[in-house]
Amino acid sequence: MDASLEPTGDIERARILLVDDSPQTLTALRAILECSRYDLVCASTGEEALRKVLKQDFACILLDIVLPDINGVELASLLKQRERTEATPIIFLTGADDDVGFLYRAYSAGAVDYLRKPVDAAVLRSKVGVFVELWSKTRQIAWQAQRLAESERRAREAELAMVRRESEQRYRNLAEAIPHVVFTARPDGRIDYVNRGWGELTGTDPDLILTEQVPPGLHPEDAGAFQREWRAALERVEAFQATCRLRAQGGQWRWILCRALPERDDAGNVVAWLGTFTDIDEQRRAHEERARLLAREHEARLQAEEAVKARDEFLGVASHELKTPLTSLQLLIQGFTRRAEREGEGAMPAKQVLDKLRVAERQIGRLGGLVEQLLDVARIRSGKLPLLVEDADLAAIVQDVAQRFEAAGQATSTPILVDCNAPVPGRWDVLRVEQVVTNLISNAVKYGNGRPVHVVCAMVGPEATISVADEGIGIGASDLDRIFERFERAERARNFSGLGLGLYITRQLVMAHGGTIAAHSEEGQGATFTVRLPLVTAEPDDPTEPVDGDAEVPAPQPAPALAAG
Ligand code: ADP
Repeated sequence: MDASLEPTGDIERARILLVDDSPQTLTALRAILECSRYDLVCASTGEEALRKVLKQDFACILLDIVLPDINGVELASLLKQRERTEATPIIFLTGADDDVGFLYRAYSAGAVDYLRKPVDAAVLRSKVGVFVELWSKTRQIAWQAQRLAESERRAREAELAMVRRESEQRYRNLAEAIPHVVFTARPDGRIDYVNRGWGELTGTDPDLILTEQVPPGLHPEDAGAFQREWRAALERVEAFQATCRLRAQGGQWRWILCRALPERDDAGNVVAWLGTFTDIDEQRRAHEERARLLAREHEARLQAEEAVKARDEFLGVASHELKTPLTSLQLLIQGFTRRAEREGEGAMPAKQVLDKLRVAERQIGRLGGLVEQLLDVARIRSGKLPLLVEDADLAAIVQDVAQRFEAAGQATSTPILVDCNAPVPGRWDVLRVEQVVTNLISNAVKYGNGRPVHVVCAMVGPEATISVADEGIGIGASDLDRIFERFERAERARNFSGLGLGLYITRQLVMAHGGTIAAHSEEGQGATFTVRLPLVTAEPDDPTEPVDGDAEVPAPQPAPALAAG
């Protein structure tokens, strides 16, 4: 409020400026106007009058029209140009002989009245009294207007403060009611309010979070990143978002999403930050579980695709393998048929017939072997390969099998050297152990490049060992692991007949006896297969249990062509 307008008491003294170069006139004027209501100020030149007007406000100015330095009309014009003095009433004092034109100029310069010298005391008092009264009323009105404006402003401010308080309260109520954690922070990021959701989530006193920049209870692995990102958001004044783990009621970690936005005033300055903590633990864990399941499904799909590919390859190989002896048999039968049709040629000599029948027998044997392999795989997969354990001598079994290979060995000029002189007694399924030795020697002859095959069997501690070594094509390191799986064949074996099932069946049989099988080889350096069997085979608890280690892995679906066929 403008203090200069404030009334000083019941009787306010009005300041009046008397300007005249004649000391007698000034004295006369003072004498006429002297009273307790007026504060009379005198000036004898225009310049002095100006100085006084610059320092103080006047209710009225009595101005001599003729002054030594600057004339009264010019001084009046100057006063009218100043905002502070433009409304101050000026009464000109004129001499009896003064030019009337001068008076007109005085009026146009802002004079409100004039008096001729020598002035009439009563007229002077009356005129000055009117202007002082006017001045006093004007001040009173201005003062009242100012007070009114002031009290209106105060009322408006009080009203605004109430609305603000009410809306703040409503906002707090809302914040307390929603099921999230809501917080506000100062522009420097220090938390200054948190709703009761914080206590419900963490089981801690909400006061503990106040004045903290980083909420207490963050997982040590997440706290650093949270702090860095929060500070960066505060610096750049941009929306903040972070996911982190928070110690919840009961001590377990829960995933939380924290978001905060800056709140600005009309000038764009940040006055606070508004934020939330949302418990996203269930969504996060569900998301992770879904990702895990998807990865597993993807892995299973890849495995299934691999298996289908392997099976398709196997079907190609199997068809070829089965077709070869069938074609040979078909040719033999065609030969016999044609000979029978040509009656004139007479009967085929007995030796020729015998030779052909032996070939037929070998091909049928080969077909039977292939079919037997397929049946064994099916039995292993379904757990229907029971062992018939009996007392036996492993040395005798090995010698017997090696003997059966003599003919095949001779056909490929492969010497089979057996070192099995001491008996190795134990309890095994004789036919299945024979099958193991047969598979190993048959592979050694097949992949042995006609070089000698060494077969050794012995008793080593509580175990019986059989080793079959050849000096043939050998097996690369990358193939060594997979050749014991179904349908798996090394690249170099493509030129040899086979289904890729022999070693798979062999390993399953060895495992069924509680034994192990291992291969040592280098490409081009031959291969050695070593089987270790416990001397006494444990009788299986449940003969229907599949012996295949990977039996739980779902078997790939048959290729569409196979299913249709
Ligand atoms: P098949 O001989 O019918 O292909 P196997 O299961 O008996 O099937 O053998 C799997 C693969 O192991 C063979 O295809 C071959 O690549 C490799 N293999 C087995 N025995 C030998 C061996 N003595 N020398 C070199 N490679 C062998």
